[in-house]
Order: sequence, then C-alpha cells, then structure tokens
Amino acid sequence: MSQLVDKPLMMANNMTDTITKPDMTNPNNTEKNNVEPNGNTAGQSWFNRSVPGIKQQLTAPLTAVETEPSTKCSNCHSMITNTALIFNCYVCPHCDHHLPMSARERLHWILDQVDGELGQEFTAKDPLRFVDSKPYPKRMSEAQEKTGESEALIVMYGKLRNLDVVACAFDFRFMGGSMGSVVGDRFVQAAEKALEDKVPLVCFAASGGARMQEGLLSLMQMARTAAAIERLRIAGVPYIVVLTNPVYGGVTASLAMLGDIHLAEPKAMIGFAGKRVIEQTVRETLEEPFQRAEFLLEHGVVDEVVHRHQLIDTIYRLLAKLCGVPNVNA
Ligand SMILES: [Zn+2]
Repeated sequence: MSQLVDKPLMMANNMTDTITKPDMTNPNNTEKNNVEPNGNTAGQSWFNRSVPGIKQQLTAPLTAVETEPSTKCSNCHSMITNTALIFNCYVCPHCDHHLPMSARERLHWILDQVDGELGQEFTAKDPLRFVDSKPYPKRMSEAQEKTGESEALIVMYGKLRNLDVVACAFDFRFMGGSMGSVVGDRFVQAAEKALEDKVPLVCFAASGGARMQEGLLSLMQMARTAAAIERLRIAGVPYIVVLTNPVYGGVTASLAMLGDIHLAEPKAMIGFAGKRVIEQTVRETLEEPFQRAEFLLEHGVVDEVVHRHQLIDTIYRLLAKLCGVPNVNA
C-alpha cells in the first residue's frame, strides 16, 4: 500500500525538481502545507492559489474607506472617508469635484467666531393649504427631520478673521433650498443686521428657486430681498454672493444676482430656467456647459470662479478691500 502511495510523489518530484506537489492521495490534505511555485505557502483554497504568469492580487489590510464611514464622490465615484472629506472642505481629493456642504457646516467653516444666529423665531405657515403629492406641512416636517434645520436658510454673524460679518447660507437638502417666506424673513433680517452694524453681508446661494407651495408669497420674497439689498447698496454696505452648485429660479432672479461681487465655485450650475425648459421655449439645442460657472465667467455674469480651498482667503481679501480694513494676510 505504501509503495503505491509513494510512487506518484516520487514521479512528481523528479519531473519538477524543486516543486513539491501536494499529497494527492489524501483528499483532506490537499489545501495544507503546499509550497507554490513562487515559494509561498498556500494554505488557501484552489481559487486563490497563485499561478505562474498571472498577477496575484495582494491581500492588503482593510483600508480606511472600508472601516470608516465614507461618502462616494458623485463625479469619480471614489470612496472618501468622511473625516478626509471634512478636512478637505468637501472637495474630492481624487478629482477635485466640489461636493455639497450643508449650510451650517458652511457657516462654521467660513466664520472664525460665531457670535449668534438670526431668524430662528420664524416658522413657515401654510396659508394656501397646499397639497401636491403630499401636504406642505408634511414636506416641511420631513425636510426638518432630514436636515435637522428648521428652514432652508441659516443666518449667523461673527468674525471672519479680524472682520465682523453677517453670513447666510442656503441648505439645498431642505426642499431644494427653495425660498419661501421664512427664507425671505431670515435674509431680510440678515441684511438689516448688516445695515445696522455696518458690516458686510455674505450669502452662499444654493437653491432650486422660489417655493411653489407658498405660491405668490414665495414670489414676493424676490422683491423683499431685492429691496433689502438696495438698502445695503445705498448705505455702502458690501454684499458678496458665492454661487454654489446649483442656483436656479427665483433665487437667481433676485438675491443671488444682486451682489456687489459674484463669486462661484468651480462647475457650479447657475441659471434661471433649466436647460430642457429653455430648449423647449427657444426651440434650439444648447451647448452643454452654458450654465456652468466657467461659462458664465467668460460671459461676464460671474466675477471670479474660486476653488473652495481659496474661497475664505478670496472673500476676506475682497471684504477687507471694500471695508477699507488692513488686510491681516498682506
Ligand atoms: Zn471625485
């Protein structure tokens, strides 16, 4: 019996010289103590066993994106850990795509010191008792639950380096950053605070437009906010708009386009009506980048397209200049 068992092994050793073949006579032992042609001890299933000439996949330890909460880049589909994303100001480290920032994160990012928040006393009403696929109050409570915010615009005042500023930011996650009467109220309050303290106002816009659930009341906010900005202009109080992706509709048609300076983030989509609506109206096919920030910069709608990493410096430099304050960076 032992002679019969030993024979195939001897033959194999003679043929391959240095390669030890598995003991094929023992079916339970085929996966153990194998030495592969590359010298590795396999201890693996046949599926993972290395084959000469075929590149072996390295079994690396789990990477950070596999062990930490991560976000997928919507442009290059890379997984980025949330920690890395926050440290990189929500810019993809692989393709430089600017991912959306929530309004609260945006304001805490821009302000070195937050002295207070405005407009939290305003709450949305439902005067039209508007119902589309869901009643308006239900949509509101869902948005509040999703974002942890009470409305689509957040206003804070504080310090940007050595400058006092009032800053507001739209949260696109909250019903598409739509402008209803509370957004109008908060924006006007921000403008009045800026006017009263004679400090600049900075607005980060990200909106789908007026909030249709409030009908005419939402459209009225266009006039209200425009009037508040006009009061700033008369008083010589600077107002800077940063257009982030996307800004559309009634917000573009009012407060987002009335700044003293319009900055935009790279590749932000900015327009009044969407591409499809314009094409159906003018019966023409429009070239793809026509509502991108870079295209609008070439055509004079936007003053500068600024990478998010340079945004705070740029806003500060502009405000210091407009306020006649010595630039602490210079
Ligand atoms: Zn990316």
